[in-house]
Amino acid sequence: MNPETIVVIGAGLAAATLVRELRARGYDGVLRVIGDESALPYERPPLSKGFLQGADEVADFTVNTAAWYAENHVDLRLDTRAISIDRKHQHVVLADGTTIDYDALVLATGARSRLGGSEPMAGHDLPGVHLLRTLKDAQALKEQITDGTQVAVIGSGWIGMEVAASSRALGARVTVYSPDDLPLAKVFGERFGHHLLELHQRHGVDVRTGTRVQGIELVDRHLQVVSDAGSSRAEVVLLAIGAVPNVELAETAGLEVDRGVIVDASLRSSDSKILVIGDAAQAFNTRLRRQLQVEHWDNAIRQGKLAAATLLGADESYDWLPYFFTDQFDLGMEYVGDAKATDETVVRGTENEFVIFWLRERRITAAANVNIWDVNDTLRALVGREIDPARLADDSITLEEL
Ligand SMILES: Cc1cc2nc3c(=O)[nH]c(=O)nc-3n(C[C@H](O)[C@H](O)[C@H](O)COP(=O)(O)OP(=O)(O)OC[C@H]3O[C@@H](n4cnc5c(N)ncnc54)[C@H](O)[C@@H]3O)c2cc1C
Repeated sequence: MNPETIVVIGAGLAAATLVRELRARGYDGVLRVIGDESALPYERPPLSKGFLQGADEVADFTVNTAAWYAENHVDLRLDTRAISIDRKHQHVVLADGTTIDYDALVLATGARSRLGGSEPMAGHDLPGVHLLRTLKDAQALKEQITDGTQVAVIGSGWIGMEVAASSRALGARVTVYSPDDLPLAKVFGERFGHHLLELHQRHGVDVRTGTRVQGIELVDRHLQVVSDAGSSRAEVVLLAIGAVPNVELAETAGLEVDRGVIVDASLRSSDSKILVIGDAAQAFNTRLRRQLQVEHWDNAIRQGKLAAATLLGADESYDWLPYFFTDQFDLGMEYVGDAKATDETVVRGTENEFVIFWLRERRITAAANVNIWDVNDTLRALVGREIDPARLADDSITLEEL
């Protein structure tokens, strides 16, 4: 491909990794990045963990410094929103009406927080009700959580549970509302769900499982979370009920879109001049032989690098397994693979330090290491193999010996 001008819409982790990789591979054409946030592209995982707890500074998780963009001649336009793509004339239209021409365009628009089901949840826009997607969101949330603050977290997904843990670390009183019987068990199985529930309960989080929230109200200047189990007061509410990929630009431009924008194993969309990376992409994974939309840190980095390869004509493809990590209280977990909720699970290890394997027709579909470190690469190599479940569970056989 080797285009003269590459324009990237979205200035998040995938975009920042892409431009870094392009320059590292010797690309010397024009590079422009358009992002609607004010901060230099940063990594989001610390927003619900170290940054919220006060342990990490923004500079610690900023991908490239301002000096790097300047020295590498990357035209980074922050606080700038792209509003449409004109594929015929190959330009992007910005909110101020100006246009930017491209030879190749990369969409790295990420995702946004979900507000509700078909309708936004009642009260989502009340003062004191927060979402957590951006640094600005995290700063606003952090300002409101101190010792003794009553925090209500709606949703028991990764971000909800991480914020619950971080809020407890700050001394807040925390309630988590979950429609499920166990947090995250639908994807990660009951063993992990129980472990997570007990971990949070042990640290004083009031996890209200099987409780559906109808909305948030303001009563006598206090927030009330209204659920099918009644109403409870809160000073701060976090709405953490999932994310929605930002695909509207692609959709309006006539690209093929499902949950994410459909791209091939080289990350090219139905218009070969437009690539899509990160949370917004639904790419063909050659290893799993299906389209995959992944909202994880590792994926944004790897797809940023892969897009650079594609743009420069290298023959590389989306062939890796999804990887994910979380940190909550003293729990650290890494997951690699692509399990389904219906897969059988096998666990090895002790109460607090264990490995979970997921199996379908005796073949390992995924594995997670909980409070055990430096084994994820070994687990990655085991995914796809057929191994007797009894051996998987047998701790006297090392992971390497499997
Ligand atoms: C609080 C939080 C914690 C997380 N923790 C973990 C974790 O522990 N482990 C893990 O694996 N993953 C985690 N993730 C997920 C991970 O951060 C994402 O997968 C990753 O950020 C995706 O990168 P991206 O570049 O695709 O999108 P993003 O990082 O979302 O960046 C996209 C950027 O594009 C901008 N944009 C969108 N549309 C436009 C437009 N039209 N014009 C201009 N700019 C636009 C957006 O505002 C945003 O700045 C977490 C996410 C959040 C929010």
